[in-house]
Amino acid sequence: MRRKAVVTDIQRFSIHDGPGIRTTVFLKGCTLACRWCHNPECIRPYPEIGFDSRRCLGCFECERACPREAILREPEVRIDRLRCDRCGLCIAACPSGALHRVGEARTAGAIREAVLRDADHYRQSGGGVTFTGGEPLRYARFLEPLVERLHADGVHVTVETAGAVPYEGARGCLLAADLVLFDLKSMDPGVHRRWTGSDNATVLDTFRRVVRDGVRVVPRMPLVPGVNDGRENLVATAQLLREHGIGNLVLLPYHRLGEGKLRRIDPPVDPPALHSATPEDLERAAGVLGEEGIDGLTPDQPCPV
Ligand code: SF4
Ligand code: SF4
Repeated sequence: MRRKAVVTDIQRFSIHDGPGIRTTVFLKGCTLACRWCHNPECIRPYPEIGFDSRRCLGCFECERACPREAILREPEVRIDRLRCDRCGLCIAACPSGALHRVGEARTAGAIREAVLRDADHYRQSGGGVTFTGGEPLRYARFLEPLVERLHADGVHVTVETAGAVPYEGARGCLLAADLVLFDLKSMDPGVHRRWTGSDNATVLDTFRRVVRDGVRVVPRMPLVPGVNDGRENLVATAQLLREHGIGNLVLLPYHRLGEGKLRRIDPPVDPPALHSATPEDLERAAGVLGEEGIDGLTPDQPCPV
């Protein structure tokens, strides 16, 4: 079993990742690569050096500091991943903070310690911790004993997943969690593959089995105009939920605010030509779901548990 997980961030006082006030732990590494991802720095499973061109002064102190000639001028800073051993000397030399570490390997004990800092707030608000990413179920065997330890500490645990993980390996972690936020992207395997890099067979299998095993599941859908907001997909999703006795779907409106991050990872990725979901898009999608007997909820409504 792995002894550490790569964490990109531990955010305190979150209110959209489950009930109450929560600490959200972002684990690095994903089994999908959604083109609209808001956390693209969480896709690759290892620590990286991030570069923010908005802060760069063009001084190339980083190039002088690098012992492996891994800093390239193309014409702005670019890191050759094959040469870089992530020693961090360029970060220390950078006067502006344009270079930074993305992801740090942490033990379960260190994560638990960070989570317990806000235990009083969880008790008062009915909150807890949410493991997200990336795909936290990549770390299922690491997380399972940590979830049990946090339960012994009296902490409610939510796992947010896209479900693209074989159920056998993830089951123990999913059964241990108090709540699973399960993202459904598209019911069409071709659309799913085009936009996430993988079809939806594993996602749907994991969804069906986790619900059948009695885990408390809140389904969610990132609503991406032009990708998955068509009537056909909404009706098919509603049918899946009805078949499993679930009466609601949280709609997460896609917004373009995360696109800046795509240019801060390496190799920089061009944002997809998508537009943000508007209140009208949400209303229309909720209307279709309503006709199908499913309540379409927005993230600012209380978590339906
Ligand atoms: S982390 Fe080290 S090897 Fe990598 S680019 Fe920076 S100085 Fe060079
Ligand atoms: S040291 Fe920092 S500010 Fe200077 S060129 Fe490198 S990344 Fe840019």
